Amino acid sequence: MSNATELVKLSAAQMAEKIRSKEVSSRELTQAHLDVIEAAEPTINAFLHVSGEEALAQADAFDKKLAAGDTEGLPELAGVPIAIKDMIVTKGIPTTAASKILEGWVPPYDATVIEKIKAAGMPILGKTNLDEFAQGSSTEHSAFGNTHNPWDATRVPGGSGGGSASAVGSYEAPLALGTDTGGSIRQPGAFTGTVGVKPTYGGVSRYGAIAMASSLDQIGPCARTVLDTALLHEVIGGNDRRDSTSIPAPVPPVAAAAREGLKRDLKGVRVGLIKEIGGEGFEAGVAARFNEAVKLLESMGAEVKEVSLPHLPYSLGAYYIIMPSEVSSNLARYDGMRYGLRVMPPAGVPQTSANMMAYTREAGFGDEVKRRIILGTYALSAGYYDAWYGSAQKVRTLVIDDFNKAFEQVDVLVSPTAPSTAFHFGEKTSDPLSMYLGDVATIPANMAGVPAMSIPCGLSDNGMPVGFQFFAPQRHDEAMYKPAAALEAALEEQWGGNILTKMATPWLNA
Ligand code: GLN
Repeated sequence: MSNATELVKLSAAQMAEKIRSKEVSSRELTQAHLDVIEAAEPTINAFLHVSGEEALAQADAFDKKLAAGDTEGLPELAGVPIAIKDMIVTKGIPTTAASKILEGWVPPYDATVIEKIKAAGMPILGKTNLDEFAQGSSTEHSAFGNTHNPWDATRVPGGSGGGSASAVGSYEAPLALGTDTGGSIRQPGAFTGTVGVKPTYGGVSRYGAIAMASSLDQIGPCARTVLDTALLHEVIGGNDRRDSTSIPAPVPPVAAAAREGLKRDLKGVRVGLIKEIGGEGFEAGVAARFNEAVKLLESMGAEVKEVSLPHLPYSLGAYYIIMPSEVSSNLARYDGMRYGLRVMPPAGVPQTSANMMAYTREAGFGDEVKRRIILGTYALSAGYYDAWYGSAQKVRTLVIDDFNKAFEQVDVLVSPTAPSTAFHFGEKTSDPLSMYLGDVATIPANMAGVPAMSIPCGLSDNGMPVGFQFFAPQRHDEAMYKPAAALEAALEEQWGGNILTKMATPWLNA
């Protein structure tokens, strides 16, 4: 499959160009990815469901349109296939959130982002694995098995969106969608050497995204280049009256900003190094690659200075109160009445609806989800509400103020995406706190609703990819795309190509 191998290694923008010039059809491109999925899945296990037949039918429909010259108004990525995190509902295709409680549920409707992807003629390859209800940082909390890191199958791909990141990193898919509540797009991006973006809160409709913590949740793009994420961001973004928190404004000009960045001129761009992220607890290789990348930004003309966001260190603690509170409320809907699993009480136990709910939830939710429901219920309970939830909301306001003040001084903020590179399976599962601490650099963006993205900036001493994070002001996602694309271009010159070319891909030669 050498021709197909060449094809799947292209960026999504390059694939789209080949489609437009009719060098390759959407069907050929889709089939090439389905072949990689078949060869790679025994090693990677990124997918919970592969929708090959539907994808080929969507590809054929697009190819017909293209042949008829009927593609006016379609986005640049038209015809390029995509994988979808199984946290986003897809009409007629099973959607589980990697939970037993939703096993067998087939949604009767599409999320807004899925409607947009279908309208763009982008075939949907399948649904990707995640931590159950997007709760975790390693994908080890999936009810349906682990996803493996394509760089080293003994290591986690990050989480919760490990499936989407590994699918993109292993060339199973050129593009994927994720959801990011506390880092679930960016940290798996960092762990797999791919690019992941959390748009401004409200910039992409959440209609049809399974709710985890609604004030923090955001859908966003995963890809192998900054430009590809920007192009996908423009496909899925924009106002939606079905999401009351959706911003009534068009998507910021992110693709133009990424293209501008590729010129590698950052004169006049003010970059702030976040004083409070880094230092103790950060892997030496992470700190080293981060610092080298900052030097590269400077070498392209960026003005770099340290900026303090004094309340940032409190974001993690506040998140682990606010998030479970919203989780406990959102997940109350899984009651055995309406979706998926139903477990009746055993003989001898009164057959009441309350007992049925209790047995269903006991059997249907995994331990991590139960832990968060219990924590959240406690934090919201009478007598404790002000002490826990109320205080956490006040901290959130202080974090928002810190970002506002910082963005008076600089155009973008930067930090490592995560304190470590991808760890081994089982390393953190017995100690939830150590797992939570890994979210220290990603959570502040969700707390403040600002956009943030992770791009690869090199390999640590263990040979695993390191993530470099950019933050931009609310509604100005374009501000981070320019320096991110510039940094990517400068790094790729050093590496002689995309960082993934340094990764062994035995499944592509099978
Ligand atoms: N790792 C974080 C958590 O466990 C983030 C999850 C997410 O972004 N969905 O909550």
